[in-house]
Amino acid sequence: MFSLTIFLAPKLNIYVLGKKLAQSGKRQMHIGFDDTDSTKQGCTTYVAALLIEELEKLGVTFLDYPSLVRLNPNVPWKTRGNGALCLRIEYPQELEAKIKETTEDLVEAHSDIDWKGTDPGIVFLCSNEIPQEITAFAKKAETTVVTLKEALKLICKFHAEAFGYNTQRGIIGALAAIGETFNEDYTFEAIAYRTPENLGTKRRVNEESIFQMDHALKPYTFNNVDSETGRVVITPRGPDPILFGIRGETPETVKKALALVKPLEPVERWVIFRSNQGTDMHLSHIKTLSEAQPYSSIVAKATVSRQPEIVPVRHVIFAVKDQTAEVDCAAFEPTGELRKIARQLVVGDEIQVYGAARKPHADKPLTVNLEKINVLKLAEQTQKQNPVCPNCGRRLKSMGKNQGFRCEKCKTKFKDLQKTAVAQERSLKTGLYVTSTRSQRHLTKPLRRYGLEKHGKPTEKLVAEWHSDASV
Ligand code: ATP
Repeated sequence: MFSLTIFLAPKLNIYVLGKKLAQSGKRQMHIGFDDTDSTKQGCTTYVAALLIEELEKLGVTFLDYPSLVRLNPNVPWKTRGNGALCLRIEYPQELEAKIKETTEDLVEAHSDIDWKGTDPGIVFLCSNEIPQEITAFAKKAETTVVTLKEALKLICKFHAEAFGYNTQRGIIGALAAIGETFNEDYTFEAIAYRTPENLGTKRRVNEESIFQMDHALKPYTFNNVDSETGRVVITPRGPDPILFGIRGETPETVKKALALVKPLEPVERWVIFRSNQGTDMHLSHIKTLSEAQPYSSIVAKATVSRQPEIVPVRHVIFAVKDQTAEVDCAAFEPTGELRKIARQLVVGDEIQVYGAARKPHADKPLTVNLEKINVLKLAEQTQKQNPVCPNCGRRLKSMGKNQGFRCEKCKTKFKDLQKTAVAQERSLKTGLYVTSTRSQRHLTKPLRRYGLEKHGKPTEKLVAEWHSDASV
């Protein structure tokens, strides 16, 4: 029933595993791909946009929106946002070879294969269900570092087919994108792409229209503008072909948003993606600080154990501990308001820290780069004050160190009285604080999404027009 082939093509270092032999009738296929772009050009979502059009021309039916799956943001070899893509289709058996060939040709043509660090991968899984082990692999790839060996083992086990270029690392993301079935929470993003002549130039979009869209559709779109700086954040910087991307709760909302934003340069094409962006899927809730692993993002309950201090350049560092370990926490300058919250913490405050765990160095312990702080319980903050006069109630004056106190009103002297600790009102309030929009990871759940989370298998059907090669 199955054949297993491994070969190296002269230039591209391709290999194929677990090739499935022909069957008849309509079939379902999940096409995952990743790592097509470099810091100099390209974008894997754009490859998806082109591939959707090519596959449609072949006559396939799309079973869902394309998946834009963000993987572990702490992976050191990512280009930008560690995004991987998956298309889920139904097709007549006789098209299978053509679909694969079209995908391979398109990925090859639009990948920066000569760039060191671009290692495209494609995975084809022909199946009506996504095996639970592949879903588990996706969760692992979102939260920790996984190996190519693990991916290849699953590809063999489930008779998928994989193509890898250069180091073939993209196969990891390609398989993980297939495995993310969005059963826990998800969002949507409508991405509009630029025309070739504008690539590399400053993006031109009417900013006022973005603010108006944000206001009109709130809270159902998110991360359009940074409220702290008043700056628009839907337009990326850099040489990639994205003009802007609008994230939101439903396909209808992001499509509406697309129509409200006024581009000042041509839009070549646009696509609506289903995504795990804004869902906090990268966070692992750990029971004790000693479980914090470098290259993962954690949520842990702990007590502030060292007073916050400001270090160059305006970063705030403090320590937290529990019964198992003490770690540093860093709120960097771009975290904005979160940095100001961190500064107000005092030793004894009980908090939950959310963020990426950075490897310890010779002189530094493991450090959590903060994305969120949940202030659970405030420690009592006291200030030493002179005692009040037992006779007239007026606050006493000190007569010098260990010399006692004197009342200026009734002139009585008190040799044995001590300073008293008086509780201070804390300016900090309990509650959840999130890093500024401009410094949020793609996966960070913004405050606006709290209460809007989705649970269970996605149910939305494809809207009539969910992509187009024409402008909006
Ligand atoms: P962009 O967001 O611009 O599309 P990128 O940031 O996604 O780019 P890639 O060029 O895709 O970056 O590089 C990420 C690479 O890391 C891919 O090869 C992917 O397969 C791999 N990868 C992703 N997640 C993990 C993980 N958890 N463990 C190991 N490797 C991973």
